[in-house]
Amino acid sequence: MKILVINCGSSSLKYQLLDMKDESVLCKGSIERIGLKINGGEENVIVKVGDDKFTYDKELKDHVAAFNEVKYILSEGEHKVIDSFSEIDAIGHRIVQGGDRYTKSVLVTEKVVKDVEELAPLAPLHNPAHLMGYRACLEVVGPDVPQVFVFDTSFHSTMPPKAYMYAVPYEYYEKYAVRRYGFHGTSHKFVSHRVAEKMGKNIKDLKIITCHLGNGSSVAAVDHGKVVDTSMGFTPLDGFMMGTRSGGVDPSVVTFIMKKLNLTPDEMDNILNKQSGVNAISGISSDDRDICAAQNAGNERAILAHEMQAYEIAKYIGSYIAAMNGVDAIVFTAGIGENAIPVREKVVSYLGYLGVTLDKDANGHRGEEIVISTPDSKVKVAVIPTNEELAICRETVALV
Ligand code: AMP
Repeated sequence: MKILVINCGSSSLKYQLLDMKDESVLCKGSIERIGLKINGGEENVIVKVGDDKFTYDKELKDHVAAFNEVKYILSEGEHKVIDSFSEIDAIGHRIVQGGDRYTKSVLVTEKVVKDVEELAPLAPLHNPAHLMGYRACLEVVGPDVPQVFVFDTSFHSTMPPKAYMYAVPYEYYEKYAVRRYGFHGTSHKFVSHRVAEKMGKNIKDLKIITCHLGNGSSVAAVDHGKVVDTSMGFTPLDGFMMGTRSGGVDPSVVTFIMKKLNLTPDEMDNILNKQSGVNAISGISSDDRDICAAQNAGNERAILAHEMQAYEIAKYIGSYIAAMNGVDAIVFTAGIGENAIPVREKVVSYLGYLGVTLDKDANGHRGEEIVISTPDSKVKVAVIPTNEELAICRETVALV
């Protein structure tokens, strides 16, 4: 079975074609600047086949044109990996917000599309863009190829009300669906199941804390296979500091600064989402590689950014140990979690009271699946590379 995974943004489209016979990736890549002018040199189309990477410029007026380009890349162009687009058995889409309506992945029907449309106010930057991707696929492949929506929020749908409610007027929940939803669910599910497998245990017998640390970051408490709490909230802004996002701050800071600088809600939203986090504290970059380099050079604000980040992550871990009354395994994943050796070391240094001991040699590895706690550590700590595309493919296969 060949499954195409699509992750569509308002001006971008990421694609990955997998052969589910052996879960191998046949081709993957991305198209940026959809609907925008291309002046040359942007190399907005990326194609990766095995270890080879090809890039080129192409102006694509909309998502249908972009998806037609994907069809050309995969089945017609010089780097094609299949003879005909009809070899694709199904398409799986990443959808950010499923609200409390979708606790599982679903085969797309008109009702599902309508629901995702109605949920757009909760994810205005994402859900409409995902639907543009879905409609472009439908136009190009027709209704006979099944399409599946896999929601970032589904895995978190098991949270109890005490974890997802906010202490604001109750009618905001009733009228506007204001509550914690959580994101990165596909990743938290993938790595929590994988660590259980690696430990040779049933996930239903384990208490796991998963730390997805990338440009966007979240921590989740997975108690006997079910999420009981997670750090992201109503939107992916909540939690702890990220590349450019503030994470949780005293809400009064928001109203104070808005009044002081006479800002509109959109301007404040932009500051909290795009001009805060590691980027703001370090004054250098949102990219952790730059922060690591600056830290090594003794830059005090880079050191502070890393210290704040690790401290906040450790506090979340501590609170989720309380929420689950224990922990058997802690997992690090995503760009920073898989690669940033000093961040993992610093976070684990707060957990000595648990009897967690780090194997420094093992922690010296990057981007590979590895246990980084010592054999006598009371809690297993592991790095598990996430693979959201593979998870989406598996969900798609299960449904079709
Ligand atoms: P993601 O959103 O999962 O793609 O993660 C992106 C983040 O991972 C960025 O902050 C990158 O700097 C960080 N990252 C990727 N590779 C490394 C590395 N080798 N060392 C430190 N951070 C890394």
